[in-house]
Amino acid sequence: MTLDIQKIREDFPILQQKIYKQPLIYFDNAATTQRPRQVIDVLTRTYTEFYGNIHRAAHFLADKATLAYEETREKVRNLINAESREQIIFTKGTTESINLVAYSFGEAFIHEGDEIIVSEMEHHSNIVPWQLLAGRKGAKIIMLPINDEGRLEFEKLESLISPRTKLIAVTHVSNVLGTINPIKQIAQIAHSKNVRIFVDGAQAAAHLIINVQDLDVDFYAFSAHKMYGPNGVGVLYGKKELLEQMPPYQGGGEMISEVRFSGTTYNELPYKFEAGTPNISGVITFGAAIDYLGNIGIENAAAWETELLNYATVRLIQIAGLRVYGTQPGKSGVISFNVEGVHFFDLGTMLDKFGIAVRTGHHCADPLMEHFGIQGTVRASFAFYNTREEIDVFVEALKKIISMF
Ligand code: PLP
Repeated sequence: MTLDIQKIREDFPILQQKIYKQPLIYFDNAATTQRPRQVIDVLTRTYTEFYGNIHRAAHFLADKATLAYEETREKVRNLINAESREQIIFTKGTTESINLVAYSFGEAFIHEGDEIIVSEMEHHSNIVPWQLLAGRKGAKIIMLPINDEGRLEFEKLESLISPRTKLIAVTHVSNVLGTINPIKQIAQIAHSKNVRIFVDGAQAAAHLIINVQDLDVDFYAFSAHKMYGPNGVGVLYGKKELLEQMPPYQGGGEMISEVRFSGTTYNELPYKFEAGTPNISGVITFGAAIDYLGNIGIENAAAWETELLNYATVRLIQIAGLRVYGTQPGKSGVISFNVEGVHFFDLGTMLDKFGIAVRTGHHCADPLMEHFGIQGTVRASFAFYNTREEIDVFVEALKKIISMF
């Protein structure tokens, strides 16, 4: 199905505005996407029609809010094809999902001398929690390298796995390079050696169809705010047999079954991992974002984003001195680059004056920057509401800026 981009754009009030008297061109979608009116309306309706604290009270509003909250859990289960709703844990984002696993899986399964393999292309949030765990337990982090194309050297994986390896932490899609990693194959290699796999799906969930059963991953995490939904909401999927063996991450209300000073028993999944009042309105609103994305069709969105990526790449590489990082065929709609003689920060701030929002810097991926021997890049990342005309304006603005240096 071809998308009617102009019609879709009308759903996004924020895209209608001008920045410095120029129409906004929003190319920072890998950092966070914008929200359609259909999603914003549900947030308003939650607060105006059926807001109450969930699961506990015996009144109408609480019941309605609980129902809507649990409906989103079912939508997420369906979105990623998880076996059961008990495996869908709401967190405040990918970062919290990773910290939950690093703490809780770490408590149950990581011991002194154990090894955790982490890829070189990871976002800091899929590196630091594992380092903290390694520090607590006396475990070791082993790096899985990438090549200069920005592809994971996953054929080296087998040789990096030792009898002490317990977990592989890897991103599904790189937030800098756009590289899509062969998760199913990595999971197969990991499992053949009795190693678990954690997948950071922050950059994948809005662009790829995710089937956790087919991928056969042990954990999968993503954030609603990168999927046209609210910020402050994330998901952790985990295999049931693992989640059941893992201790709670945080203590508090909702995660308990019975509390005595002599000892406490914990609630069943998924509530064992959802201590305290969660982001009720956020989770309910996330349900609307999943519906919206479902109506667009993730494959349709991805096909259009790929067209935009290809168009932008062809135009950008014609600029003298411009180098693109991440050239793996079939990558996701993210393009990171530098221009010889112009600092990425200057490019970003001057593009902003043309109304163009891009991201500059290390993109929370210092080890990746180190691999390429750079401090940072300019990153343009596309969503289904972007257009070819916006890319034309972007490329012309870039040329003007470069000519000033
Ligand atoms: N992992 C990747 C690949 C990301 O791109 C990001 C955010 O940019 C994160 C993790 C962290 O996501 P959040 O800030 O929503 O927790």
